[in-house]
Amino acid sequence: MTFPGARLLEGGAMAAEIRTAVAEDVASFTATQGRPPGLRVVIIGKDAPSTVYLERILRGCAKVGIDAGFVELEGEATEAKVTATVRALNDDPSVDGVIVQMPLPGTIRLRAVIDAIDPAKDIDGIHPLNAGLLRLGYDGFLPATAHAAVEILRRSAIEIEGRDAVVIGRSAVVGMPAAFLLVREDATVTVCHRRTRDLAGHVRRADIVVVAAGHPGLVTGAMLKPGAVVVDVGINVVDGRIVGDVDFESAREVASAITPVPGGVGPLTNALLLTHLIRAAERQAAERQASRQPAVTGGDR
Ligand code: ADP
Repeated sequence: MTFPGARLLEGGAMAAEIRTAVAEDVASFTATQGRPPGLRVVIIGKDAPSTVYLERILRGCAKVGIDAGFVELEGEATEAKVTATVRALNDDPSVDGVIVQMPLPGTIRLRAVIDAIDPAKDIDGIHPLNAGLLRLGYDGFLPATAHAAVEILRRSAIEIEGRDAVVIGRSAVVGMPAAFLLVREDATVTVCHRRTRDLAGHVRRADIVVVAAGHPGLVTGAMLKPGAVVVDVGINVVDGRIVGDVDFESAREVASAITPVPGGVGPLTNALLLTHLIRAAERQAAERQASRQPAVTGGDR
């Protein structure tokens, strides 16, 4: 069976719809709390490549009325300085969400930084508590990219239940959380990684392929089962162009649906992060409200 060009799963329109809803939630939060929801992004060394991506997130926040800004530390900042900065943001009641720029400089331990983030403000789901909640099937904060990879399927009405899914990549922020989310959606999931012996063989059996390996051209049309759905999470710069991990031209001839790069998972990721932030803000406000209420007396006196 051949497919005359795959359906494109584009994140732009989905993101716009989400942003409209978030803007309404932000407006009502601001009206009731007397301040907008706040996001702070800790950046360590302004020249890191991810700064451009983070600037885009801040602009997206500003557009929906979120008070978002950078907290800039020097590239030579120590681990103690970074964790102290994160803790100060945890204690700041005008800050609802905290993101730390990744990857960290080699001198700073990831574990020390993720442990420092208040799980209630961890809107990109990197704290072990949120990772554990996902693993156990409870509602915590999801890593936004993994969330978007699965949400783009749901919003495109692609059936996940009972289907064979292959996730390529086992990182803590993308591959593994995407795999857990797919299991939660009742897919049968195989996680492939650098040591996988027969990547093509696994991919060929998959109805859904999620690729998050950071290798342009890793998956080609020749590897896919005809009619497979392909979610490309990769963002690579090749000859000045942004491309994913999937060889788009060959894959679109074989797949039934595929996310373009750019324009697929990326825009949805940024929009979902906004939903995580407003949720963090609303939850913390509700908790503050509850702690101000007089204690309810028990009936056993
Ligand atoms: P990301 O943040 O996008 O998940 P990482 O660099 O943290 O990226 O992780 C890359 C993941 O991709 C790793 O789990 C690695 O095992 C997997 N990977 C990299 N190259 C290959 C490959 N050639 N085949 C299969 N998996 C790969």
